[in-house]
Amino acid sequence: MKAKVKDVRDSFPVAKSALEAIHLKCRDCTCDQQEQIDSCTVKKCPLYPFRAKVRVVHRRNISDAERAKRSERMKDMAARKAALKAQAML
Ligand code: SF4
Repeated sequence: MKAKVKDVRDSFPVAKSALEAIHLKCRDCTCDQQEQIDSCTVKKCPLYPFRAKVRVVHRRNISDAERAKRSERMKDMAARKAALKAQAML
């Protein structure tokens, strides 16, 4: 049975995350048969890419220089966030 991603989260309010809700939906769909989830062939189901509780990561081909630049930017953002948090605690 195909499911819509936006409906799944509402259907499983006990789930702590969207991925967990999707996994619970897949368990419901297959009558709790993990092997059936693993071997699901319904590639048109919107949940298919997420059925194994695996986050889909879109890898990008970026240069080492660009990666270093992004890393520095993330460190800078983390430092600013920590500073704001410290400021709020005063
Ligand atoms: S991905 Fe497969 S097992 Fe999961 S809900 Fe869709 S059809 Fe069912």
